[in-house]
Amino acid sequence: MPVGTQATVKALSPEEVKATGAQIILGNTYHLYLRPGCDIIGKFDGLHRFMNWDRPILTDSGGFQVFSLAKLRKLTEEGYAFQSHLDGSKHLFTPEKSIEVQIGLDSDIHMCLDQCLEYPTTHDQAIEALELTTRWAQRCKTHWQEKTNCRNNLFGIVQGGMYPDLRKRSAEEIIAIEFPGYAIGGLSVGEPKERMMEMASVTLPLLPEDRPRYVMGVGTPEDLVELVKMGADMFDCVMPTRNARNGQLFTEQGTINICNARFRGDENPVDLSCDCYTCRNYSLAYLRHLYTAREILAYRLNTIHNVHYYVNLVSCMREAILDGTFDSFRKAFYAKRKPSVT
Ligand SMILES: [Zn+2]
Repeated sequence: MPVGTQATVKALSPEEVKATGAQIILGNTYHLYLRPGCDIIGKFDGLHRFMNWDRPILTDSGGFQVFSLAKLRKLTEEGYAFQSHLDGSKHLFTPEKSIEVQIGLDSDIHMCLDQCLEYPTTHDQAIEALELTTRWAQRCKTHWQEKTNCRNNLFGIVQGGMYPDLRKRSAEEIIAIEFPGYAIGGLSVGEPKERMMEMASVTLPLLPEDRPRYVMGVGTPEDLVELVKMGADMFDCVMPTRNARNGQLFTEQGTINICNARFRGDENPVDLSCDCYTCRNYSLAYLRHLYTAREILAYRLNTIHNVHYYVNLVSCMREAILDGTFDSFRKAFYAKRKPSVT
C-alpha cells in the first residue's frame, strides 16, 4: 500500500497512483482527523470522493501518530488524551472514537487502536501494553459491530514487543476475538533487523492462513521478499515515496542515488527492466538534472518509478506464489542485486 498520509500519495495524482498498478492505499486517521477534520470529509461521504480515489483504502487507527507526533499525550485505560501537534488543541482518542473516525472516513479496512511501545522495553511493560491492546481490540470490535453491522473490514493488531512468548500470547488473544484480517504491529521501531525478522517469523505462522496477514510499516525490498516467504500478504511503507523525494531510486540491482555524478550524461532509464512512465520516457541524466535543480517534476517522476517498483515487486511475488515458483523467484531476486550500488 502506498502511503497517502494527508489524503494524497505525496507528489502523485490518483490517476498516477493507479497507473503504477496500486490497488489500495493507506490513509492516516490522526492527520485527517486533525486536518481537514471529519466534518469536511463527511461532506464528501468519506475519503474516496474527497480525494477522488475509487479503489480500496486502509486507514490506521491513529494510535501510532498520537504516540509519535502528538504533544503531551497521556495514556489511560480509556484511551489516548493528547494535544494536536498542529495547534495544541486537546483531544481524546478512545478505541470507540478511532473506529468512529474511520467509519467517517469510510475506509475499506479499519484498524484497531493499539498501544504502541518504544524500543527497547522491559518484559513487564510489553505485557501491560499487550493486555491493554487486547481489551481495546475487543472494544473496537464491539463498536464496529454495533455501528456498521460489520460493513467494510476491521483488522486486529498483534503486539508483544520484542518478546517471542508475548507475541504468541498476543496473537492468541487477538485471534480469539476474531477479525476479518490480522496485522503485526510494533515492528520497525528502531530494533535491529534480525529482531524484527525474528518477531515476524514467530508471529506470522500463528495467524490464520485464510485471512490477510499485514505487517505494518515495513520495509525494504529485501524485507518484503523475506516476509512474504514467511506468509505476509500486505505491507505499507513510506520508503518508496519518501526515498523518491530524497533522490533514492529502487532498481533490480539495488538502490541508486540520483545525485551521483556518474549519471550526469547517462542516457539510460533508471531501470532497464522497468516499464513505468518515468523509465519509458526519461533518462537518468534528465532525472539527475531535475533533482539537482530542485524542480517539482523530479519528485513526481521519482515517486512514479519507486511506487511502480514496489507494486511490481509484490505482484511478481504473487504470481510466483500462484505458479509455485516462489523459491526460484527469491533466488533470482538476490542474484540480480549488487551490494550497495549507490
Ligand atoms: Zn521505472
